[in-house]
Amino acid sequence: MQLKKITLKCLALFFPLQLLLIYILKQHPFWVETYYSEGLFLFISQLQHYLTSWIPFSLGDLFYAALVLVILFWILNLFRNRSVSASWTSRFRSIRSRLLEALAFISLVYFLFHLFWGFNYYRPPLHLSLGISTEYTKEELHEFACDLIQKINTLHSQLVNNDSLRVEYDFKQTQLQKLVFEAYKNSANDDIKIPFRVENVKKSLFSLPLSYAGFSGYVNPFTNEGQYNYKIPKYKLPTTIAHEIGHQLGFSKENEANFIASIITMEDENEFLRYSGLTFSLKYSLNDMYKKDPLLSEALIAELHPGVLENYKEVQEFWQAYSGPVELVMETVYGNYLKVNNQPQGIDSYNYVVALLVNYYQQKQTINL
Ligand SMILES: [Zn+2]
Repeated sequence: MQLKKITLKCLALFFPLQLLLIYILKQHPFWVETYYSEGLFLFISQLQHYLTSWIPFSLGDLFYAALVLVILFWILNLFRNRSVSASWTSRFRSIRSRLLEALAFISLVYFLFHLFWGFNYYRPPLHLSLGISTEYTKEELHEFACDLIQKINTLHSQLVNNDSLRVEYDFKQTQLQKLVFEAYKNSANDDIKIPFRVENVKKSLFSLPLSYAGFSGYVNPFTNEGQYNYKIPKYKLPTTIAHEIGHQLGFSKENEANFIASIITMEDENEFLRYSGLTFSLKYSLNDMYKKDPLLSEALIAELHPGVLENYKEVQEFWQAYSGPVELVMETVYGNYLKVNNQPQGIDSYNYVVALLVNYYQQKQTINL
């Protein structure tokens, strides 16, 4: 009993220390890169990979479900104990020990989250590692978008025989999964360091709630498994799976995982992966152009084959079918999560992905989209 109390106290005291450590690490991103992202994290993630990748279902999903049950049970217990009549001193003692339990628990989860994956949030931004700028003009964005549109239209004509038809992904989900694994393994891109093994992606057991919450997938930092929402249109799966693998490789930030997903799919030899990747990049570019020059972005959209717009529409309709209050709440919660984890612009920070794409392809002329 005494040992339990000492452990709880140590864990609770450890929490402010962790906050201090993170505050210091935020000032030293290159330490994080050298000692964590390119050091300890590689070891931990490979170990997690060996422990969880062979399990056919998502262990991480079950872990989260158990976590929610533990928290619910703890809260229920809290109310049950309160109803017992007791003296003020014993009530105070009970509240104090409950608070200690809660703080110790938060401290432990917070520690494991960072140790297993979360410290990657504090590594230097990707453009510094790639040695590229983040500045771009409207003209440069225009040129990039035109290039994408031309490639998308050509590819679209190869995949369907009518301009107004959307591209159908006649694959099983596991086949698309394999194609993305191959894309990572065969990637000749030296800028993205890819370890030998990337095959730890699973269908989420909670795809229906994920759909209502507006999520295509997530990575569980405690098991390093990538989960994808299997209900989303198959056309979106290649970039979604590639995005989750990007997270697993240590690119914690959303926009950086999107950039990695774009590169991996756009540069692959498989036409379906390329189509997913090119249209994914174009969507971000057009959204950004819309903010800078709505008329020009509409003129660009008009150049696309109508069938390409049908693919976009399919995705939009999917999310509309599940939209509602839950999605709004999750957007706020997730927006706050991103802000806490070193992405101050929250969910709106996505045009950094455009900055990376435009500059990357402009400065690395050797790469053919
Ligand atoms: Zn993500």
